[in-house]
Amino acid sequence: SLADRLQETFKKIRGKGKVSEADVKQMTREIRLALLEADVNFKVVKDFINRVKERAIGQEVLKSLTPGQQVIKVVQDELTELMGGEQSKLNLASKPPTVIMLVGLQGAGKTTSNGKLANYVRKQFNKNPLLVAADVYRPAAIKQLQTLGKQLNMPVFSLGEDADPVDIVAQSVEKAKEEHHDVVLIDTAGRLHVDEEMMEELQRIEAAVKPDETFLVVDAMTGQDAVNVAESFSERLNLTGVILTKLDGDTRGGAALSVKAVTGQPIKFAATGEKLDALEPFHPDRMASRILGMGDVLTLIEKAQQDMDEQKAKDMEKKMRTMSFTFDDFLEQIGQVRKMGPLDELLSMMPGANKLKGMKNIQIDDKQIGHVEAIIRSMTSEEKEEPDIINASRKRRIANGSGTSIQDVNRLLKQFKDMKKMMKQMMGGTKGKKKKNPFN
Ligand code: GDP
Ligand code: MG
Repeated sequence: SLADRLQETFKKIRGKGKVSEADVKQMTREIRLALLEADVNFKVVKDFINRVKERAIGQEVLKSLTPGQQVIKVVQDELTELMGGEQSKLNLASKPPTVIMLVGLQGAGKTTSNGKLANYVRKQFNKNPLLVAADVYRPAAIKQLQTLGKQLNMPVFSLGEDADPVDIVAQSVEKAKEEHHDVVLIDTAGRLHVDEEMMEELQRIEAAVKPDETFLVVDAMTGQDAVNVAESFSERLNLTGVILTKLDGDTRGGAALSVKAVTGQPIKFAATGEKLDALEPFHPDRMASRILGMGDVLTLIEKAQQDMDEQKAKDMEKKMRTMSFTFDDFLEQIGQVRKMGPLDELLSMMPGANKLKGMKNIQIDDKQIGHVEAIIRSMTSEEKEEPDIINASRKRRIANGSGTSIQDVNRLLKQFKDMKKMMKQMMGGTKGKKKKNPFN
């Protein structure tokens, strides 16, 4: 992966007390290859490498006390810049309703993102959105949006399949005003390829309702193609941002890195799953850390905080960092963690997690959770604090007490051990201090 490649490159330079121009050149050559392999747009890579080289060979780096780390910091800064620098906030209209239109190719994730965005603005800004079904070409499209509306308990505006999308959106805005919906989310049609008819229709919709936000929905898995698509859309519409979807998939990272440079518009949201809460504001600096394989502790902690109170999240973080995490904590966190989403998704955001992909053992599936709880509850407090004392006869007692088997007990003990080992690896070297940027 891109992260692996970059980490390999950085390993060579990180600890160097002296970095020469030749070192920088060697490093940028490797970064260039890694980016191209990750499907980043050629022109984007060229500019990027030039900027890194210029800064890295400059005085600030080579003369510094830790030039190796400084060079890496330069790369991280420039990656962040490449993705737009600051996080871009959602533009809410001063006079409601805020009209948001989602455009993009078929299958990019427009309809799903509409639902997610509706959920997000309701949760985050206490809004009362109206979903608008303006994709009249695919019979299932209206139905799909209605299903999402039902799940969210939100109204969907539709005039059926025979109406003109421009009429639909125009009427939907009127309806939103009447019924005090302060956000209107327009789901538009896509094609498998950019075509003239689609573009004209989108332009007509744009002209009719003048959206406050027009988001291009881009499937991150499509890499370089996604960027070409982005270019054609940005030539015809007044895009204001990008929603990058399917970041949970096996993406090479190319789309995230190229799309801002190509469209001039920042990625505002990232979607990381099919569920309605799998949408987050996009943070360029955090994404840069993720691409550099340094994980994304901040997003992880933020995610945790949505479901637990802050103090609890802090405690948990501290426990993980100081390794004082016991079975009791484990039990308490299971419920919380389950609320946050699949454990492996959470773990993938942690620093170093990309190195640990092989450790399937730490994954706990939902079916096992009931067993896990029962087993932990059958342990004595001594056993919970110090699992090493759990010998064969204790295992038998615990299995009997929890209605599970000795194999189940063994499996949990092993998982717990692996998990602790993993935490240690991840948190290694930070000495309990929370650091925003590992290089500061
Ligand atoms: P549209 O044609 O652009 O409206 O795309 P849809 O919203 O119908 O999404 C197409 C498919 O991609 C659906 O099966 C979605 O569940 C799936 N999908 C959308 N966003 C994501 C995402 O962030 N992650 C994953 N894994 N799947 C997604
Ligand atoms: Mg759709």
